[in-house]
Amino acid sequence: MAKISVFGIGYVGVVAAACLAKDGHEVVAVDIDPAKVDTINRGKTPIVEKGLEPLIEMTVANGSLRATLDIGEAIAATDLSFVCVGTPSAPDGSVGLTYVVKACEAIAAAIARKKAYHSVVVRSTIVPGTMDKVCIPALEAASGLIAGKDFGVGYYPEFLRESTAIEDYYDPGLIVFGAIDETTDKILHEINAGLPCVCHSVPLATAEMIKYTSNSWRAVKVTFANEIGNIAKACGVDGQQVMKILCSDLKVNISPYFMRPGFAFGGSCLPKDVRALRHLAKEAHVESALLDAVLEANEAQIDRAETMVSQMGGQTIGMVGISFKTGTDDLRESPLASLASRLIAKGYDLKIYDPFVQQAYAEGMSGAGRGNDTSIDLKNRLVGELDDLIDSSDVILVGNHYAEAMQALDQSSDKVPMVDLLRIRPDIRSSGTYQGICW
Ligand code: NAD
Repeated sequence: MAKISVFGIGYVGVVAAACLAKDGHEVVAVDIDPAKVDTINRGKTPIVEKGLEPLIEMTVANGSLRATLDIGEAIAATDLSFVCVGTPSAPDGSVGLTYVVKACEAIAAAIARKKAYHSVVVRSTIVPGTMDKVCIPALEAASGLIAGKDFGVGYYPEFLRESTAIEDYYDPGLIVFGAIDETTDKILHEINAGLPCVCHSVPLATAEMIKYTSNSWRAVKVTFANEIGNIAKACGVDGQQVMKILCSDLKVNISPYFMRPGFAFGGSCLPKDVRALRHLAKEAHVESALLDAVLEANEAQIDRAETMVSQMGGQTIGMVGISFKTGTDDLRESPLASLASRLIAKGYDLKIYDPFVQQAYAEGMSGAGRGNDTSIDLKNRLVGELDDLIDSSDVILVGNHYAEAMQALDQSSDKVPMVDLLRIRPDIRSSGTYQGICW
C-alpha cells in the first residue's frame, strides 16, 4: 500500500483522499485552508457529495486518513503527492496556474529537505505542455533537483462528475496518466490495479490533452442535445425521446465511428441533411449555432488542406482518392473533389488516382464517376496507375486508398513529398522513401 499526500481538499482532492484511504493507502490531505483541515480531522466532509461523509468518518477513525496544514510533514510522511488544487480561468480565458505553481514549489522545497525519492503527480486540469513548460521547471527550480532522476513526475487527470464522484472513482470510464519515470508509472498502475478499467499510460501532454478533449466533448454533447431539443420542440416532437433512441445505437452513433481526426466530411447525406436541419431551425426561429458551426468548421478543414498544399511548394499535384470516402465511387459533395476544384482553379496541374471512380467513369455512370457535381474534367485528370501518378507529381495528397498509396510510396525510387489528409500516421515525416506531412 502507498503513502500518499493529497494537496487540495476540494471536490477532486477530498474524494481521491477518502477513496484512497478506504482502499488501504495511508493518506495525508493537505490544504492552505485551516477550516477544511479541521473538518477532515473531525471525520466530516467539507463538501456535499453522496457517500463521502461515511468514508471520511471511517478512514479518519481507523487512522488511514488525516489532514494537515504542514507541507513538510506531509511530504516527509509520504512517497507520492497528488496535486489537486484549483485552476480557475484567468480573465483572458487561459488556465490560471497560480495555485498549481505555488503547490509545486512548496512540495519541491519539502522534497529537497526530505532527501529521498518522491513522486509529484498533478491531477488539476492543465493545458497540454504545462507539465513540461511550467510544472517541471518550477519543481526543479524550487528543489535544485532533476526531474525523472532525483524525483518522479506524473500527470493523471481526473474525470469524476460531482454528485456521482465516488461511484465514478470505483467504476471509472477512463483512466489516463503520463509519467516521466518508471517509479511513478508503476505506482500509478498499482493504485489503479483493482479498478474495472484499462489504464492508458501516455506522454504527459497527451494526458493533458485528453482531459480537455473529454470536457469539451461533454460540453458539445450538452449543447448538441439542447439544440436538437429546441428544434424538436419547434416541430412538436419529443426531443427526450429522440435523443434517448439515438443514443441506443451504440454501434454507430455512440461509438468511435466518425470520431477520428482526418479530412472533412462529405457525401450525399451529411452536408445535405445538416443544411436541411439548419434551414428548418431558421424557419422555426430557433437558434442553431452548433449546426452552423459544424458546416463552417467543415469548410475550414478544406481551407486548411489547401493552405498545406500551397506550403508544400510543388506545382504538379497527385491526388490519391477523390470519392467522398474510401470504399465508394460516390463523388457527391466529396470534400476531396472540392479541394481538387480549388487547386485546379489556383492553377495547379492536378492528376487523380481513384480506381473506383475510374471504373464508374469507364462504365459511363453519371457521365464521370457517380455524382461528379464539380467542374472537374475527370477524363483528362484520372490516372490509371498509382506509380505513374507518383512519378509525375511534385506532391502527393493521400485522401483515400491509404494502404495502396503507402505501399506505392514506399516502393518509389524518389523521395516524394506527401500530405496525409487522413492523419493516419503522425510519425511519417521523412520516413521510408517519401517525405510526409501529417497535416
Ligand atoms: P476546489 O477549488 O474545490 O479545491 C481546490 C483546493 O485546493 C481548495 O481547498 C484550496 O484551498 C486548495 N489549495 C489551493 N492552494 C493550495 C496549496 N498550495 N496547497 C494545498 N491546497 C491548496 O477545486 P476542485 O473542484 O477540486 O478542482 C481541482 C482541479 O481539478 C481543477 O484543476 C479542476 O479543473 C479539476 N477537476 C475538477 C473536477 C470537478 O468536478 N470539480 C473534476 C475533474 C477535474
